[in-house]
Amino acid sequence: MSAKPRVLIVGAGIGGLTAGLALIRRGFDVEIFDQASALSELGAGIQIAANGSRVLRELGLGDELKRVGTEANIVDLRLWNSGERWKMNDHSDTAEKYGSPHYTMHRADLQEFLRKAVLAQKQTAIHLDARCAGFTQSAKGVRLTFEKGDPVEGDVLIGADGIHSVIRQSLFGPDTAEFTGFIAWRGLCPADKLAPELMRHGGWIAPASHIMHYPTRHGALLNVIAVVERSDWTNESWYDRGTHEEFMSDFPGWHDDARAMIAAVEIPFKTALMVRWPLARWSVGNTTLLGDACHSTLPFLAQGASMSIEDGYILARCLDAFDDIETALKHYETARIERTTKIVLAAVDQKDRLHGDSLKNSDTAKQHVDAQWSVQRLQELYAWIYGYNALTVEI
Ligand SMILES: Cc1cc2nc3c(=O)[nH]c(=O)nc-3n(C[C@H](O)[C@H](O)[C@H](O)COP(=O)(O)OP(=O)(O)OC[C@H]3O[C@@H](n4cnc5c(N)ncnc54)[C@H](O)[C@@H]3O)c2cc1C
Repeated sequence: MSAKPRVLIVGAGIGGLTAGLALIRRGFDVEIFDQASALSELGAGIQIAANGSRVLRELGLGDELKRVGTEANIVDLRLWNSGERWKMNDHSDTAEKYGSPHYTMHRADLQEFLRKAVLAQKQTAIHLDARCAGFTQSAKGVRLTFEKGDPVEGDVLIGADGIHSVIRQSLFGPDTAEFTGFIAWRGLCPADKLAPELMRHGGWIAPASHIMHYPTRHGALLNVIAVVERSDWTNESWYDRGTHEEFMSDFPGWHDDARAMIAAVEIPFKTALMVRWPLARWSVGNTTLLGDACHSTLPFLAQGASMSIEDGYILARCLDAFDDIETALKHYETARIERTTKIVLAAVDQKDRLHGDSLKNSDTAKQHVDAQWSVQRLQELYAWIYGYNALTVEI
């Protein structure tokens, strides 16, 4: 039996699997529970920036990142109506500058190689069809209960159960999400439905909406995320479907290239974008949170997955470094809250750079782009995000 604490993780998403892998590699006994009956999922792309890929490479997943990921390079920005194009970002020196590349990929591919890496370390670590109903904790440890099946006991509990986290609500009360007034459409376009020149990494800006897109599966699919200011849909879910007609009607007057992307999306999903203002603490006793469960973010900086990867790794470092669990969780929180809070608030602030009346026409849009979206400006703005090193940061 392991002399180290037995760790129970609720949620086998990106954050839960990363934490599980990092902990097992350090000799912890880990059990991961997910409500899903299989970890395959509806289509979605994801970006893993240098701060996230650095951790995954340290966990031995560098080859997998190369296998499923597309290394980002030039990212361009276009104006919604004229289609005018500017260079927004340049990732060609990201790997050199930050010590690790910026990747785009299919979310299911990332989750699948993390799942396999966990199972390669411990074949029985992941339990599916295990929807957590609640938990109790005492001086002796934690006890997790499920909607079906027997309770499970352990020494530490990690709530990695995403935006609607049951563990967060048990610790800190009902959800306090606020609707932003934005909805996000998302979906994947197969390459054979789009002109090859549209299968690239880029974005579009407009007065009250924007689109971001990037390749996944080495250009076989284009991931499209389209955000619009609209207040009649307030359901926050990664699984709700809309129709192409409704998606298209949210982007009237847009350039043909943008509308071609909307038309090519296989299944249009829509979700309300909500803000949860940062929590002052994440842990109580031997229970803590990570990822979207404690710092869900607007997608405007593409940092949701990378932050949850950093959390998982630093939590494993802390549990390894401090024998007393509460002390370890305190160090984890202290190391993480300030950074994740800053990113969550910076993502909210992105809205004023993405939308605005100056984007109504070409002349004023050019001034806005020169001031806000030059490569140099972006590199200055994002350096602290990409440059963070979860492997060495003080804990
Ligand atoms: C299907 C899906 C699609 C997504 N698409 C996008 C996207 O297009 N763009 C983007 O920026 N972000 C997207 N995200 C969010 C992004 O993946 C996360 O921000 C990021 O990966 C942080 O991960 P996490 O591990 O904290 O949470 P998640 O990746 O959300 O994982 C949480 C896990 O907990 C499980 N879970 C929840 N409640 C329970 C419970 N009671 N008992 C047991 N298990 C539970 C869920 O099944 C899930 O596997 C998506 C998430 C999901 C689940």
